[in-house]
Amino acid sequence: MQTSKYNTKSLMDIINRPDLIFVKGHNSWLEDADGKSYLDFMQGWAVNVLGHCPNEIKETIHKQSELLINPSPAFYNLPSIQLSSKLVSSSCFDKVFFANSGAEANEGAIKLARKWGQIKKNGAYKIITMHNSFHGRTLATMSASGKQGWDKKFAPQVDGFYKATLNNIESVIDLIDNETVAIMLELVQGEAGVILADKLFVRELRKISQEKNILLIVDEVQTGMGRTGSLFAYQQFNIEPDIMTLGKGIGGGVPLSALLCKKNISVFEYGDQGGTYNGNPLCTAVGVTIIDILNSPNFLNSVNLKADKLSLELNLLANRLNLRGERGLGMLRALILNEYDDGPKIVEMARNYNPQGLLINSPRKDLIRFMPALNITEDEINIMINILEKVIIESRL
Ligand SMILES: *Cc1c(COP(=O)(O)O)cnc(C)c1O
Repeated sequence: MQTSKYNTKSLMDIINRPDLIFVKGHNSWLEDADGKSYLDFMQGWAVNVLGHCPNEIKETIHKQSELLINPSPAFYNLPSIQLSSKLVSSSCFDKVFFANSGAEANEGAIKLARKWGQIKKNGAYKIITMHNSFHGRTLATMSASGKQGWDKKFAPQVDGFYKATLNNIESVIDLIDNETVAIMLELVQGEAGVILADKLFVRELRKISQEKNILLIVDEVQTGMGRTGSLFAYQQFNIEPDIMTLGKGIGGGVPLSALLCKKNISVFEYGDQGGTYNGNPLCTAVGVTIIDILNSPNFLNSVNLKADKLSLELNLLANRLNLRGERGLGMLRALILNEYDDGPKIVEMARNYNPQGLLINSPRKDLIRFMPALNITEDEINIMINILEKVIIESRL
């Protein structure tokens, strides 16, 4: 009864929260108000790439807060200049716009594509997105998303989004007409249950979009910043997109996101795009710290080694418990349960496990998703597997 001392009724009830309050965190561990520890394989939905409250981020926030927090996006500041240069030199893109959330970066991508269509393609405005995709919770990004039932929520939708099927190139081709300005997708559909785009499909998308003068937008809010084992997931598909969005991991826990594009697509004019907190030095300074660590020698190498270990252990667990296997890319993985298993029940039992709880996520009933810190240790992977195995067995009794 950790929340009974507090008046939680003042908070809008937007999700069914468990009756516990987290009071502190360190690396892959969280602690609640009763002092119980939890091994965290969610990390704020793939946000805390270095885990909870890493020293590097604490120091950066401390140092930057003594210098400058927010002079206004209408002036240059050093950390945002540095972070934009580092993103450009680490990717195929030339220009960066900073925002505060993944949805806001995607809104920017949609606006940029429409602006480009107005100027360069006779007012083309239609954007092809994928069924079951997730691009955020603003009106336009909900309209872009292919989540079931979302087309009826908050109707009317923002116009101009047409849904194709991931890994079905014909379904994309069928939707293309003269008014199509862009194709937008996640290279690994995270919320849909860690569903990977085929390499061949993505290469065909790139080829067709180039032939037809259509922009290719990758939403790397979840897959970017080392999550899939390369700095950006598109690098594993041997393509160069025109536009990319980043969120989640780029701020390592603080609100930061980015919209990146190639030089010739950077068509915003003065007044088209902005925002009070965009590119503020407090958050972009943290972004600099994060990208420097991800780019340091051997960091991504060790992420890949540990992702291989996680994948192997999940496969062995699947064999032992008669599950249907596992899939994923890097540190974004899913364990596919059996039809008779109950993902949400397993999530709850894992959280309530004693003496230490385990935080995992079940975006679909037959699936458990793992998004640990990129610096998770092998020991912690073993602890996770150990708790999960006991919990799955117990959930079946
Ligand atoms: C989480 C997510 C978003 C939305 O990001 P917010 O910061 O919650 O607005 C958009 N796209 C993808 C692929 C995501 O995983």
